Amino acid sequence: MSIRIALAGNPNSGKTTLFNTLTGSNQYVGNWPGVTVEKKEGAYRKDKEIKFTDLPGIYSLSPYTLEEVVSREYLINEKPDVIIDVVDASNIERNLYLTTQLSEIGIPMVIALNMMDVVRKNGDFIDTEKLSAELGVPVVEISALRNDNIEKLIETAVKTSKELCRCIESFDDKLETIITNIEDNVPSIAASNDKRWYAIKFFEKDEKATEKIEISVVERNTINDIINKAEVEYDDDGEGIITDARYNYIASLVSRTVKKGRKGLTASDKADRILTNRILAIPIFAAIITFIYYVAVSVVGGPVTDWVNDVFFGEIIGGNVQSFLEGAGVANWLVSLVVDGIIGGVGGVLGFLPIIATLYLFMAILEDIGYMARIAFILDKIFRRFGLSGKSFIPILIGTGCSVPGIMATRTIENENDRKMTIIVASFMPCGAKTEIIALFTAAIFVGRHGWIFAPLCYFIGILAVIITGVMLKKTKRFSGDPAPFVMELPEYHIPTVINVLKTTWERVRAFVIKAGTVILLATIVIWFLQNISTSFEFVEFSGESNSILESIGKTLAPIFAPLGFGHWASAVSTITGLVAKEVVVGTFGVVGGIAEATPDSSDMIAYAASIFTPLTALSFMIFNQLCVPCFAAIGAIREEMNDAKWTWFAIAYQIGFAYAVSMIVYQFGNVLYLKNAPTIWTGVAAVLLLFIVYMLFRKPKISNSEVKSAVESNQ
Ligand code: GDP
Ligand code: MG
Repeated sequence: MSIRIALAGNPNSGKTTLFNTLTGSNQYVGNWPGVTVEKKEGAYRKDKEIKFTDLPGIYSLSPYTLEEVVSREYLINEKPDVIIDVVDASNIERNLYLTTQLSEIGIPMVIALNMMDVVRKNGDFIDTEKLSAELGVPVVEISALRNDNIEKLIETAVKTSKELCRCIESFDDKLETIITNIEDNVPSIAASNDKRWYAIKFFEKDEKATEKIEISVVERNTINDIINKAEVEYDDDGEGIITDARYNYIASLVSRTVKKGRKGLTASDKADRILTNRILAIPIFAAIITFIYYVAVSVVGGPVTDWVNDVFFGEIIGGNVQSFLEGAGVANWLVSLVVDGIIGGVGGVLGFLPIIATLYLFMAILEDIGYMARIAFILDKIFRRFGLSGKSFIPILIGTGCSVPGIMATRTIENENDRKMTIIVASFMPCGAKTEIIALFTAAIFVGRHGWIFAPLCYFIGILAVIITGVMLKKTKRFSGDPAPFVMELPEYHIPTVINVLKTTWERVRAFVIKAGTVILLATIVIWFLQNISTSFEFVEFSGESNSILESIGKTLAPIFAPLGFGHWASAVSTITGLVAKEVVVGTFGVVGGIAEATPDSSDMIAYAASIFTPLTALSFMIFNQLCVPCFAAIGAIREEMNDAKWTWFAIAYQIGFAYAVSMIVYQFGNVLYLKNAPTIWTGVAAVLLLFIVYMLFRKPKISNSEVKSAVESNQ
């Protein structure tokens, strides 16, 4: 018979790490709260009859956040056989708050005291036996990360699942009597399987939870009488009384079972003194990011991508395939399709894979050691002053890998306005695919000694765009309001686990390669045909001559982009093909460049890009493509998360408008101030746009009606 085990616990308590160890699966272990919004399921490696569900991290079972609702609906409706409550033992007091609530649902429970390695390292002591005896719940010390005691945990859970559930009596006698009173005197509650749970929820007036129980008017009156009496007696409301009682119970329990042996600061605290220092934090963050891009683009990028592009895809694959096909008497057009189209396009995209893999690797390390969580925390402190919440930065930091999971991670933001705003800006960061364009330009345009700076520059432009948008939107009536408080548990730093880091990197690289072999392959074939079919629909091998469908589309669009400096047909058309996926921008240059040169050398792409861009137009092109609407997949994610056509269109329109304005400002001012060209009418337009943005940034905030109302009320 199969056994269903639910893993529940606070964010960052190690549920996903445990889940992955148990199931051998590859779920994303994020070092920040809210990464797991949906529940995930998997079977035990050693016994497929045991099934686990990894629930989103929560601090309590109240109905206030999406994660809380997802978790408790699952527990109440699906009734797993046993709950493993994953407790971060190094933060036991805070974690036990949820524990007391979980025990009320009426499902057998085991406490997994996780992170015991940290507890031991800190020199703390937890009297597990006493804790277990007092709670009446089995407690097993584990370390999910170090794979300690996991089998014992599962044995205990399986055994417990067959026993009757014992609720933790976490209230003082008086309150226990009140709860029992509700249980006994309201027949509808007494008849339910989860008496204690519903009695408490009625007492807390948690309507979402209690709507499942139908009660008569008489019963409603009985409950109200009990509550009213208690509220007068305690001089607090139902919810407050329960919360206080829990805290009191936990505080006294912890004082009896936990001994802090800590002398002074831990190594992690010491590291945080520097890394999250008020003054140094941001420069250190900037330096780390710059260093990572330097290594990726310059150290790995230069020699390795040259070799992959020129030798591997150019000579070895391209050259040999070409001679083979020609030797076999294959038609010229087919040789060109394979060599210029597929090898040139897809090979060009894959040629930059070493750079992207390096970035992914570094990001995975930063995440695993616990540094990325600090970044959200540091940024929160600073951006709160602008009315932005650090919680918004988590999706944005995730979006540096790929915008789609970044946009999905906005689900954890409770405030609807902040959530919408974050969805709009989450794709401003250079994802892996956009990094392709950065890498192409670094190879083609920004080649000098300091050219690599272009890459981290794009990263910081992304962050700046997020802040500027955030500040502008926050000043509008629609988005006004203080950011929700941002609480997060900073995990202890730990040495990166090689397996975790490699797994995360591999997952992302794999996704990238799969995309190159499917979507991008298809796109480059289509582009190859469009470049070889004339506007009168004849098949012609153009070898760089004009009149292809692709070129005429590009020429039609070019005037739109001329004010941004990239009015060349190929850059115009690649901006559009890039909507399929941003890698296709590079693929397009690969195909067009390959056909133009009609040789199998895939660095034709680099030569081609060098021939149509200057540093200034490359910068402007990059900014536009980075800030403008992302790929179709990300637009799909935006629609999904906005769940509203109007807002989806607003996001798209904003992204296009903002990207266009910023590119124009950069190009036009660069043209006059840096290249010393004479101003044109477009310089004027750019100046007006700049003034408008500055005005939007510094004007007085508009206050929404509800805020006006509450301000008026509080004055009365
Ligand atoms: P979740 O939010 O509960 O799913 O937590 P995760 O599984 O994502 O883990 C949060 C962080 O804690 C990650 O950085 C893990 O590597 C780390 N972690 C998990 N279990 C342990 C453990 O037993 N010991 C230590 N030192 N770290 C752990
Ligand atoms: Mg998780």
